[in-house]
Amino acid sequence: MNYKIALIPGDGIGPEIVKEAVKVLDKAGEKYGFTLEYEKLLMGGASIDVHGIPLTDETIAAAKASDAVLMGSIGGDARTSPWYKLEPSKRPEAGLLKIRKELNLFANLRPAYLYEELKEACPLRDDIIGDGFDMMIMRELTGGLYFGERKTVEENGIRKAIDTLTYDENEIRRIAKRGFDIARKRRKKVTSVDKANVLDSSRLWRAVVEEVAKDYPDVELSHMLVDNCAMQLVRDPKQFDVILTENMFGDILSDEASMVTGSIGMLSSASLNETKFGLYEPSHGSAPDIAGMDIANPIATILSAAMMLRFSLDLDEAADAIENAVKQVLKDGYRTGDIMSEGCKKVGCREMGDLIAQRV
Ligand code: NAD
Repeated sequence: MNYKIALIPGDGIGPEIVKEAVKVLDKAGEKYGFTLEYEKLLMGGASIDVHGIPLTDETIAAAKASDAVLMGSIGGDARTSPWYKLEPSKRPEAGLLKIRKELNLFANLRPAYLYEELKEACPLRDDIIGDGFDMMIMRELTGGLYFGERKTVEENGIRKAIDTLTYDENEIRRIAKRGFDIARKRRKKVTSVDKANVLDSSRLWRAVVEEVAKDYPDVELSHMLVDNCAMQLVRDPKQFDVILTENMFGDILSDEASMVTGSIGMLSSASLNETKFGLYEPSHGSAPDIAGMDIANPIATILSAAMMLRFSLDLDEAADAIENAVKQVLKDGYRTGDIMSEGCKKVGCREMGDLIAQRV
């Protein structure tokens, strides 16, 4: 089988880590009998430099025509990069929000998994970690506060800013279904997180999630208030399987969950639409502070590529092989600087890619 992959290396460490992911994907292709045809696209700062805007219509069309999109990361150092002298709608991050909207990527998946070998990097106590944890945060990505109407006005000499948080039942239903579907492939537990004691949007969220749950009697549903969830993530992360939540809560909770796993360089993510199509990228940013130094950790991007094989191309066996290769490399004691610990062998971005590809 041959698949078309839109490749968006992006800015900062993006090109370096995407190169390693491609190396590993091609090795998996050789072994499992598929080929990937890549089309490189510009987005973020790289697109601003060439086209003056972070995302062109041509890039959107090319992404839509592919089977899946694999992305590095976009953005620069806001204090020094000229990209941030542009008006907000022309900055790198605007490209990211626009592509999510254009591709209708409403479901964001972020696994938070504690590797046995990286336990030391976890800031939690051993008795809290126990046998480790393995959760999936399912965040609504195209609605809520980040996409609502907003304005800043001045009334009687006082500046006032207004943001609006809106959800309709269809937006909630489609993400809830996705959440329950994913839970079915895991430990069959959904924790829906909201602020139903205060917000109307959360009360509707809870009601619709309850309705959807009726179609999934084999999946256990519970509700949790977002403030409690923030606490539970550090008190007892083992209790979670799938956390289902709206855009802003998911933004914050998924970063908290990543911190609990210890390293941002290990965390993959997927953003999906109603079909099999998705955009896959590491959870971290473009790390401009270490760009071009061959020290970035490519594992988050490599694991995102594995998610792409699983969710968009149905190549589960190859996805498993990549995930196992990552585990094996860690077992063999290889580490990039960000996850380095005593007694391990320190390697750069390129070498880490080679080592994983060899083990696929
Ligand atoms: P960041 O994630 O880029 O970096 C935070 C810290 O983690 C830095 O010290 C960096 O060196 C380190 N780090 C990140 N990824 C690493 C990796 N793979 N290996 C080793 N170390 C790694 O976050 P930031 O500094 O807040 O943001 C930098 C830029 O990235 C900004 O322009 C921001 O807007 C952008 N950003 C983009 C995305 C995206 O493309 N989805 C997400 C977050 C931030």
